[in-house]
Amino acid sequence: MTVNLPRSSLRAIAWIALAALALALPFIVLLTGQRASGTSFMWDFSMGLGFGALAAAGLQFVLTARFQPITRPYGIDIVYLFHRYFAIGAVALMLGHFAILYIWFEDALGDLNPLTAEWELTMGRIALGAFVLLVITSEFRKTLRIPYELWRYGHIALAIIAFGAAVAHIIGVGHFTAEADKRILWLGVAVSWIGLMVWTRAIRPFRLWHNPWRIVENIPREGGVHSLVLEPLGRGLKNWKPGQFVWLTLGASPFALKEHPFTISTPPEHGPKVTLSIKPLGDFSEWAVHTSPGAKAYLDGPYGAFSIDNDPEAKGFVMIAGGVGITPMMSNIHALQERNDPRPVILIYGNKDWESAHFRHELAKLEETLNLKVVHVLENPPDGWEGETGFIDRKVLADHLPEETRHWPHFLCGPGPLTDAAKSNLLAMGVPLTAIDSEIFDLV
Ligand SMILES: Cc1cc2nc3c(=O)[nH]c(=O)nc-3n(C[C@H](O)[C@H](O)[C@H](O)COP(=O)(O)OP(=O)(O)OC[C@H]3O[C@@H](n4cnc5c(N)ncnc54)[C@H](O)[C@@H]3O)c2cc1C
Repeated sequence: MTVNLPRSSLRAIAWIALAALALALPFIVLLTGQRASGTSFMWDFSMGLGFGALAAAGLQFVLTARFQPITRPYGIDIVYLFHRYFAIGAVALMLGHFAILYIWFEDALGDLNPLTAEWELTMGRIALGAFVLLVITSEFRKTLRIPYELWRYGHIALAIIAFGAAVAHIIGVGHFTAEADKRILWLGVAVSWIGLMVWTRAIRPFRLWHNPWRIVENIPREGGVHSLVLEPLGRGLKNWKPGQFVWLTLGASPFALKEHPFTISTPPEHGPKVTLSIKPLGDFSEWAVHTSPGAKAYLDGPYGAFSIDNDPEAKGFVMIAGGVGITPMMSNIHALQERNDPRPVILIYGNKDWESAHFRHELAKLEETLNLKVVHVLENPPDGWEGETGFIDRKVLADHLPEETRHWPHFLCGPGPLTDAAKSNLLAMGVPLTAIDSEIFDLV
């Protein structure tokens, strides 16, 4: 039987295979390395855990470098999920490495006092501490009330310290890296990580800095959203698809790492200008919606894979949005309009009240010209409202999604509880998991 996988799936599998190879590499080094004489299984196992941990941690530089060929088959949210779970896995392996040494070979850990301890062991402890801190501050950022910007700078600084210390630890300790070729390999790995850091923190910002954009319009919309229309002063975006997003830097240089992700709410057919529709929710977005035309901006992208273009054979589309999660739907719906695409779209759109339903007038107009059905679901409906009320629950979905839509692509974007509930209801209604795609606006 021949299985015809789409090219994007093949690419996704190929990247996973490459990642597996990168993870296996340290074990190959370990197995082919010169062993210290008289070591036991537990000792070797502990070393294996240490090497595996560093390989898994090193992969994080690749995952967060935002390489478009890597992010395209999965979508950036999935790549960040990989980043999150690989990082937790790496720290678990590191703790295993340390625990085995602590329980069975405590003497090997030497003196704890950094002034008298062997430097390479102190490096190991610094690396472990920094990696643990990286995971704790990321997993519990909101509980610990760490502002996003502070967290981001701290995350980068801790990652540099952790990797520097870990590589110094491996090279300094020298087990399994005693031979010159093994040292060269580890130095090579370290240099590649540094190369990736230089790419993400210096070369890419430099390229963005050379390619600025300008805000040409700031259009207030319903529900407090503002659409910023930007035109490229240099090169426009290349090969973008409806539903994709960019990292926007406004009022700062691209080197300042003050970028925020926003969906391009207009379709590629409206290019080279792009429109970002922003809801004021915090410091940056509050400030961004008041930006005047003429202001300079920098756009890094396009990223993401939340697009009707993923499935050219689809018979129709189901879109379920909450609040500002409507932006990628607008881009996809506008693309269908531009292409005179007659395929049906059912959009189920949840909001607190009628006033906060963004783009409601535009959607009403689009309904007149497109094969589009919009179902507004309001938590607090106005007097006389005859539409759906409450939340987008199983009943709403069952009432508006006929049986024939089950295998259409389903796009979900909005607050976590909304997309989680919609996803489990859709699965229970018989929609295959592969037909459900959700976009997460809250990466950390
Ligand atoms: C793929 C994607 C597409 C998005 N599209 C849109 C859109 O079209 N319209 C829209 O209004 N919003 C969109 N967002 C959300 C938008 O990025 C955040 O609301 C904005 O960054 C909040 O920043 P703030 O300083 O105003 O708020 P804050 O109060 O500082 O942050 C609120 C939350 O936003 C997230 N956040 C903050 N800064 C960043 C950052 N630099 N990078 C990543 N996440 C951050 C954090 O989870 C934070 O807890 C999108 C997010 C993602 C991930």
